[in-house]
Amino acid sequence: MNVRAQNSSLAELQSGSVSNRYVTISIDDGDASDFRTAELLDKYGLQATFYIPARNPERPVMSAHQVRELSARFEVGAHTLNHAPLKSLPEAQAWMEISEGKKWLEDTIGKSVASFCYPRGKFNASTPELVKKAGFLGGRTCLFNLHGFPRNPFLWGVSTHAYSHSKLVQLRHALLESNFAGILNFVRTYNGTTDWQQHFLYGLAHVEQHGGIAHLYLHSWEIDELGQWAQLEAVFAAISQQHCFTKVTNGVLFQLWRARNDDGRN
Ligand SMILES: [Zn+2]
Repeated sequence: MNVRAQNSSLAELQSGSVSNRYVTISIDDGDASDFRTAELLDKYGLQATFYIPARNPERPVMSAHQVRELSARFEVGAHTLNHAPLKSLPEAQAWMEISEGKKWLEDTIGKSVASFCYPRGKFNASTPELVKKAGFLGGRTCLFNLHGFPRNPFLWGVSTHAYSHSKLVQLRHALLESNFAGILNFVRTYNGTTDWQQHFLYGLAHVEQHGGIAHLYLHSWEIDELGQWAQLEAVFAAISQQHCFTKVTNGVLFQLWRARNDDGRN
């Protein structure tokens, strides 16, 4: 099973025999168009984590059979049971969404699930603890313009959303989430760019020079709606040419964070 492969790659990562430059991709929501993204990932030899809820009132989710099919090739992570806005839910309901979403996914794919992603990136002060208590190793947020290992693995940021946000939206989003490092990075590292392809390329260039994690997050349905498949493929092609980067799933990074911190090295 994958766990063994992941462990050996973790051992390599820990031993320092590979570079400290990582690139990872996450895809949210389990839309059927995720298979088109999966084909592109395969074409360029890239790894990724697909975050899938059991149901989503906003849009259709792929069938259980399709989730299993995807999990044979890529990491699949939990995204709650009903794509629930955890920030505004009573704690008991948030717990049910987080823990039952994990159980549903594990039952569906027949493997343990280590990675979690907050629907719409929404959480409150107690949500990350619930994610930890449910047995996940990490929680991916929508905190943008971040490219290092976080202090708290349940508040894991991304460098780029594959969507061209305006400067105002970037700023408002960062202020709402108190993501001050993100604001600074948006100006310094990402040069305030509103073009998502260029934004991610700035992230890659920064990580190539300084180490860290270039993390692209996307919705296949968004790429499809905006007719951005060619742009996505160009970015995947650019990543595949970065030979000094280690291409990993989100879960391998979460494991690596845990291993480093268990060792007391961080
Ligand atoms: Zn989502």
